[in-house]
Amino acid sequence: MLGLMQQRPLLISTLVDYAAQWHGEREIVSRDPEGAIHRTNYAEVAARAKRLANALDALGIAQGDRVATLAWNGFRHLELYYGVTSSGRVLHTVNPRLFPDQLAYIMHHAEDGYVFFDPVFAPLVEALAPRLPQVRGWVSLSDRAGLPDVKVDNLLVYEELLAAASADYSWPPLDENAASTLCYTSGTTGNPKGVLYSHRSTVLHAFAACAVDGLGLSGRDSFLVVVPLFHANAWSVPFSGAMCGMKLVLPGPRLDPESLFALLVDEGCTKSGGVPTVWLNFLTWIEANRASLDLGRLRLKTVLCGGSAPPRAIIEKFHELLGVFLLHAWGMTETSPIVTVGAPLAKHDGMSGAALVDVQAKQGRQVCGVELKLARPDGGEAPHDGVSVGELKVRGNWIVSGYFKGEGGQVLDEDGWFSTGDVATIDPDGYVQLTDRLKDVIKSGGEWISSIEIENLAMSHPEVFEAAVVAVAHPVWQERPLLIVQPRVGFAPTRESILAFLTERLPKWQVPEDVAFVDSLPHTATGKLLKTELRQRFHGHLAVAG
Ligand code: AMP
Repeated sequence: MLGLMQQRPLLISTLVDYAAQWHGEREIVSRDPEGAIHRTNYAEVAARAKRLANALDALGIAQGDRVATLAWNGFRHLELYYGVTSSGRVLHTVNPRLFPDQLAYIMHHAEDGYVFFDPVFAPLVEALAPRLPQVRGWVSLSDRAGLPDVKVDNLLVYEELLAAASADYSWPPLDENAASTLCYTSGTTGNPKGVLYSHRSTVLHAFAACAVDGLGLSGRDSFLVVVPLFHANAWSVPFSGAMCGMKLVLPGPRLDPESLFALLVDEGCTKSGGVPTVWLNFLTWIEANRASLDLGRLRLKTVLCGGSAPPRAIIEKFHELLGVFLLHAWGMTETSPIVTVGAPLAKHDGMSGAALVDVQAKQGRQVCGVELKLARPDGGEAPHDGVSVGELKVRGNWIVSGYFKGEGGQVLDEDGWFSTGDVATIDPDGYVQLTDRLKDVIKSGGEWISSIEIENLAMSHPEVFEAAVVAVAHPVWQERPLLIVQPRVGFAPTRESILAFLTERLPKWQVPEDVAFVDSLPHTATGKLLKTELRQRFHGHLAVAG
């Protein structure tokens, strides 16, 4: 017997309408590249998203067509998030930090018909335009006065498009399975692949994000959106923010610690989210300027962190310097991205210090709505004992079912599981601990060594700013870990002191074979350590080191 409840399509437009009607005055604050602050709210953003939809109609952009953005976090980008998707087009948020070759590949593959860009990206746009003949128009996210000097065909001005369009628009009744946004994976190996989200997956994911033991978002929160809008749907914040009427603070390109601190204070931010490298710089700056900062004015309570593993030092400093709880989460572009979140359990009440950091350093527990398992190479499941390692596999309503245009072929096994390529343990409480990417695992004498564990330990050394561990070839052990260290400014740690520090904390066979020092470590366009480059650069290191 079937239930007798209504079935309405799960559409992004319902989130936009809800925010406009029930949280219309809740603010959206943006900082432009010059540093000026712009204030608007959900009602205005939603109204302008409707004007945008009319403008897209006038441009002849059909349902399902891809509309690309090359933009930082700002109110116009948010309007595109709402207007493009709710009107039935697909928003392709492109990461402008990628190399021009990658950008040309991605935007060609996506068949982006129109590109909306921040004026600061004018040189990039000019370089890309000759390589993207399918682009029918380039829209500067500005008014006429802010239009950059850029030589491309059919250059349009966003504010003029909106001014010429009517505000009268009804969102179309789309199929909830229609595509809504498109993001390409970072593609550290092979070409980037497109992940095509649907309205249904986006709305379900937003419910999980809002849930108290998810990201715990609320209409009373003010959220500094450090994670770029072009990275994995900004972890759902544009959608879950609308779902709960949360104030959004969009920092534009200025992610330096001083600018972030000013926004956090001035906008009363209670929550924020970003990758560990941003917070590493932020906390170093706070520590150095502590005496001159009025830390008492901060209302910040929780910082969401993921994308790569935050070192313990970040978790500790957030707590000690600012009284902030680091909420650790794990996921990937293919998973919308939220899969696990490190909300504490009732049994952790009253826990503090190192014991609580132990819990926070893990990647968190699976949220309801997706399924997670730890697969052994033989196909069986590894036990949740916190020791046995396996590959994480996921399935659920906001997990990819295949890449755009069938790239990469079949990506699910016969039971619908997606292989993440991440190696982990799961403890008896369900907390996942990532030990490596499958391709980064160090296979030493038949044993697996976790590069992430050594990196985390190395970064708790007081003179280490950032650390990376890669496998290097070894005549006896097949592979051995090499530790590559970027010292903190003003410090010159020695190989011996770092190895002594690690020897006290690691089993002997896991202690790196050598330590190399660098001025800075390479990162991908999404802030992850670029291990492919390090592996190439240090390939023969042990042979050279003798
Ligand atoms: P992306 O699709 O660019 O977001 O990258 C996803 C990958 O980033 C995952 O498969 C992990 O390898 C890594 N990652 C994401 N979150 C974390 C985390 N909290 N700790 C460690 N690695 C992470």
